[in-house]
Amino acid sequence: APRTVLISGCSSGIGLELAVQLAHDPRQRYQVVATMRDLGKKGALEAAAGEALGQTLAVAQLDVCSDESVAQCLSCIQGGEVDVLVNNAGVGLVGPLEGLSLAAMQNVFDTNFFGAVRLVRAVLPGMKKRRKGHIVVVSSVMGLQGVVFNEVYAASKFALEGFFESLAVQLLQFNIFITLVEPGPVVTDFEGKLLEQVSTADFPDTDPDTLHYFRDFYLPASRELFRSVGQSPQDVAQTNARYTPLAALKAVDPSGSLYVRTSHRLLFRWTRFLNLGLRCLACGCLRIRIWPR
Ligand code: NAD
Repeated sequence: APRTVLISGCSSGIGLELAVQLAHDPRQRYQVVATMRDLGKKGALEAAAGEALGQTLAVAQLDVCSDESVAQCLSCIQGGEVDVLVNNAGVGLVGPLEGLSLAAMQNVFDTNFFGAVRLVRAVLPGMKKRRKGHIVVVSSVMGLQGVVFNEVYAASKFALEGFFESLAVQLLQFNIFITLVEPGPVVTDFEGKLLEQVSTADFPDTDPDTLHYFRDFYLPASRELFRSVGQSPQDVAQTNARYTPLAALKAVDPSGSLYVRTSHRLLFRWTRFLNLGLRCLACGCLRIRIWPR
């Protein structure tokens, strides 16, 4: 029988692509429940799903921040059985910390972290009873390393990593497996939404120097990063080899100092060479040892 796959956040981006790819599996191994918070946005998914719609793909409402919504969604799945859960829904938050509200920060944790926890708690009893299941978590490279002006978003992804790494140990006893996916920059609506957020925010209580670093260093560098090493949601299931050298800095120097200093130099000292620097990092020709500690 096909496996029931429940995916959160399917109105756009990675969730939409994953839902469509699984629903089009030539061997029809999956029955996809593609969920989204606002069913008014289901048009793009339905168009991309094509003839899979109503066959191997069903669309359902699910707000990962609501217990009622999660319960309602699971009650509509035949037998309530989810074989594979994909925690994909997520929101970003960028900007100088002093200028962001605590409510905005809490919303990031409510969605990215507690949203995933809420879904896992709901499907886990069934998976444990059946002694079978797979939980996939769309984390981020920012779950492995911090990125300037993304402190709260990175913290929410670090939280996911710690939570699921801990849970994975127990769940092996139940034959339930966890996969953490850590994409680098992916060209989706995600970046556009963040830039829109930034263009309308005035970041109160932020000193001029910090605002200058954010607007004149970070934002152009971020755009360049997406342009030069961003991958498409279609191939996000595979490793983004182009981002690997940056991620590897932390493994090379477990103290974390090499990564922090390299990021700092790339952004604040070498902005003019950022493009070149990223390309060199991408092809590996710029050896990390030319940045002495
Ligand atoms: P996206 O904005 O296209 O997708 C995020 C989805 O989550 C949207 O459909 C949004 O509506 C949904 N969502 C937000 N709050 C929700 C809620 N309360 N309930 C249900 N759905 C909700 O962006 P994306 O790039 O496809 O992001 C998908 C995941 O990938 C996110 O977890 C994100 O953190 C992660 N990620 C993205 C990138 C990137 O560069 N785009 C990189 C690494 C990881």
